[in-house]
Amino acid sequence: MNIGLCIGGAIAAIWMVGSICRHKRGKNKIIYIVEDKCTGCQRCLRRCRYRVLDKISNAKFARVIVKHPNQCTACGDCLSACKFNALKLVKKTNNSI
Ligand code: SF4
Ligand code: SF4
Repeated sequence: MNIGLCIGGAIAAIWMVGSICRHKRGKNKIIYIVEDKCTGCQRCLRRCRYRVLDKISNAKFARVIVKHPNQCTACGDCLSACKFNALKLVKKTNNSI
């Protein structure tokens, strides 16, 4: 058997297990943006596979917003992308979605 295929399959399996664990951990949680810490760099936006976030800007500021909260799986991928500590996972409330 091709060793490259074996390694590729193992990496894919590890990624899938990690993804499932992240989703379970984030159950009942949702992303929250700390507005005064967000610089609008968009690193989180590019990291999110679910297109939850969007950028807003004008002459005075730029930051991200949670545009599609119902699509957030609380996977936490965007958290590690933010260098400014501007993202948190918080408990969902009735007003969250
Ligand atoms: S990575 Fe952090 S600072 Fe950059 S846009 Fe996202 S929340 Fe804002
Ligand atoms: S927690 Fe996951 S799904 Fe939610 S905004 Fe961040 S990267 Fe997207």
